[in-house]
Amino acid sequence: MSKKLIPSLCPYCAVGCGLYLVVDKGKATGIEYMTEHPTSEGALCPKGNAILEILNHEERLKYPMKKVGEGFVRISWDEALDMIAQGMTRNIRKHGARSLGFLASSRCNNEENYLMEKMARLLGSPHVDNCARLCHSPTVVGLGAVFGTGAMTNNLIDLENSRCIFAIGTNFTEAHPIVTRWVHKAKDNGAVVIVADPRITSTSWMADIHLRIKPGTDIDLLRGMMKVIVEAGLADWEFIGSRTVGVDELLQSLKDYTLEEAAEKTGVPAGDIVRAAKAYVISPASALLYSMGITQHVCGTDNVKSLSLIHI
Ligand code: SF4
Repeated sequence: MSKKLIPSLCPYCAVGCGLYLVVDKGKATGIEYMTEHPTSEGALCPKGNAILEILNHEERLKYPMKKVGEGFVRISWDEALDMIAQGMTRNIRKHGARSLGFLASSRCNNEENYLMEKMARLLGSPHVDNCARLCHSPTVVGLGAVFGTGAMTNNLIDLENSRCIFAIGTNFTEAHPIVTRWVHKAKDNGAVVIVADPRITSTSWMADIHLRIKPGTDIDLLRGMMKVIVEAGLADWEFIGSRTVGVDELLQSLKDYTLEEAAEKTGVPAGDIVRAAKAYVISPASALLYSMGITQHVCGTDNVKSLSLIHI
C-alpha cells in the first residue's frame, strides 16, 4: 500500500490549524503542511508540530483496559462494550435511568458529542454534560445576552483588517500561537494593540498599550473605559438607540463611578485607561480578543458582558 496524505486538524486548541497526516501501511509516519488552510496557511505552532510524537507515544492509551486488583489488563473492544452495557442496564434496573450520568469532552468532535447526548436521552437520563461548560458557559450566556448568540462574531482572518485589537484575559501568543500571525498582519497595517494582563507575557510584548491590571479587576477596567467613552461623547448613540435595550440602566450604573476610582482599583494609570478607551472607540474597525483569563472567574459571565458592552 502506498503512502497517503490524509487531511486533518490539530486538536490542541480552538484555532483548528490544518495539516496532512502522512499515512504509510495504516500508520501515521509524518505530517505535511496544509498551505491552503485559510487560518493556518501552512503554519503550525510547536504543539501542532509535535502531533506525531504524541500520536505515536508509547504511553498513549490505544485499547480498553480493565482494572484488576491494583493494575489494569488489556481487554477486547467487545468485552469492554459488553461490560459498559451490562453496567448501565444493572444500574437502570436498580436505580432508574436518571441515575446515569454522561460526561463528554471538548477533545471529541461535534458528532461524537451529539451521539453522547443522543445516547443519554435514549436511555432516559437528563444528565449529560461537556467539559466545555466550565470554560465556555460564561461566553455562551454573556455573549448570548448582549449580542443574541453565544459564539465569536468574526473569523480569525478578519483580525488582519482590524485597526485596533484589544486583548484581555488571553496570552494568545502562547495559548493560540497561530492567532499571533493575524495580529502581526494587523500591526503591519498600522493597528494599535492593547493588552490587559497583570503579567508581562510574550503577548504583552507586542502591545502598544499594556494595561497591567491587578488580578480580578477586569470589570473595574472595563467600566472605567466605558466611562471615558461616554464622557468624551464618543459613543455612537444612534447605533445604540436603534439596536440596544437597557442603556439607561448602564448609564445609571456608571453615574457615580469615576476614572480615578477605576485607576485606583485596577492599578492602571488613569491616562492609560483613557488612551486605551479612545484608541478602541475611535478606530474604524476594532476587535476584541479574550479567552479563559476572563471566563474562568466567579464573575466570568459578568466579565464577558462588560467586555461586549464596550464593543457596542
Ligand atoms: S495554534 Fe498550535 S495548538 Fe492551536 S490548532 Fe494551531 S497548531 Fe494546534
